[in-house]
Amino acid sequence: MSAKVLLHPKVTDFLQEPKKLFINGQWQESADGRTFETTNPATGEVLATIFEAGPKDVDLAVEAASKAFEEGSWTEMSASERSRIMHKLADLMERDFEVLAQLDTLDNGKPISEMRSADLPNAIEQLRYFAGWTTKMTGQTVPISPNSFNYTVHEPVGVVGQIIPWNFPIMMALWKIAPALATGCTIILKPAEQTPLSAVYLAKLVEEAGFPKGVVNIINGFGKVAGDALVKHPKVNKIAFTGSTPVGQSIMKEAANTMKRVTLELGGKSPNIILPDADLDKAIPGVFNGIMANQGEVCCAGSRVFVHESMYEMVVDRLVEFANNVKLGDGLDEETKMGPLVSERQQTIVTSYVKKGVEEGANLLCGGKELDKGYYVTPAVFVDVEDDMTIAKEEIFGPVVVVMPYKTIDEVVERANNSQFGLGAGIWTENLKDAHTVSRKLKAGSVWVNTYNVTDPAVPFGGYKQSGFGREMGSYALENYTEVKNIWINLE
Ligand code: ADP
Repeated sequence: MSAKVLLHPKVTDFLQEPKKLFINGQWQESADGRTFETTNPATGEVLATIFEAGPKDVDLAVEAASKAFEEGSWTEMSASERSRIMHKLADLMERDFEVLAQLDTLDNGKPISEMRSADLPNAIEQLRYFAGWTTKMTGQTVPISPNSFNYTVHEPVGVVGQIIPWNFPIMMALWKIAPALATGCTIILKPAEQTPLSAVYLAKLVEEAGFPKGVVNIINGFGKVAGDALVKHPKVNKIAFTGSTPVGQSIMKEAANTMKRVTLELGGKSPNIILPDADLDKAIPGVFNGIMANQGEVCCAGSRVFVHESMYEMVVDRLVEFANNVKLGDGLDEETKMGPLVSERQQTIVTSYVKKGVEEGANLLCGGKELDKGYYVTPAVFVDVEDDMTIAKEEIFGPVVVVMPYKTIDEVVERANNSQFGLGAGIWTENLKDAHTVSRKLKAGSVWVNTYNVTDPAVPFGGYKQSGFGREMGSYALENYTEVKNIWINLE
């Protein structure tokens, strides 16, 4: 018997409605009337038609955000009132929890169980956590001399453009807007063109929550058009971007022209290391989920698994067994553990990497296959992989893992760090000393010990090296959205 969830009536209605741009608190068609379609990756069928923002729409949204910022409707609202409205939005997301969960599953393909247990609770918690900060951000008094009073104030950076990817649509939206709202910025959010739906629904909730007009503008559109226009716009003070490293690099170059503040959360090729004394009953499923969760479409996916040679073959066998038993299917089926990839393009990228791995001489033990319908790729495990092979170096962004043996801790640390990226890293060990010393040596923004891929709004997340810079979440995220002003009063 199929356990496929019935679509919530609000989802069915929403799919029928026009999906306009949310600018200055109003719903607008794109200036040139252009639209694009979004598809369900489990079936390839069109889900809905979306209005596509062009440069004129971006300009309208930026003007609205700029006016809202200058007028102070948000910035100068009392901190507790800002907090209250953010909590209101969180309440509305809780009310429409199942609607938002289903929309991302339809649009992205990911299992509904993950939406309910991970993405959506995390997204909502971002609002609650950062709503708490509005009343707690303070500057410093600097005791330079008895003849002066010197202090700092942290001011919102202004109008922020936020460009997000398709792998965690609603969660990425809240990772971005929650800290920006807390600091008093005004926002133009551009979701990924592959997953526009939940952001439009979020805009409806923003409207209902009572944010002043122009504070949160949500415009769907393509990266090279709407994203690019945002990055170039002289009235955008800051760009916060999550996505691929090449796009991050081009954004950074372009932003230099207007000296925008930039934070970038980019790609990864994260190592997940099983040390000789690991508890394998935890470590093996841990490294498996570390790469395969969310179909491997995770920037910090543990895509390079290093296993001590003493247990290598046994671990590989167990990983293959897990891979062969993953329940692939439509994300709307309650029993699905792995959905399709987000798009046909992503499916092609991932299977091309699988082909390349085989061509370069690695041994594909299982997976890497497409299914007849939908953009699926079965979970792939590679062995006989050299560190300099393409599949060991480049981000694949799909359910493909390379499993490599090592002899010593020094060796594995060196190989783990031998990457252009530095987003996440995992260590599996029962030895306290190794846990701490190896953690310190790994060049990554997040090191997880005996767990993997876990995030919390209170905990900073971001990259070393070409994985980007700036930290999302935690108090660190507030720095992304504030300028420090020093005020020096001469008392002589
Ligand atoms: P992917 O290749 O996995 O789709 P991207 O980095 O291309 O990842 O996309 C992440 C986000 O960046 C999306 O919202 C996309 O529309 C946007 N984007 C892509 N190219 C550009 C660009 N040149 N300028 C600004 N935003 C872009």
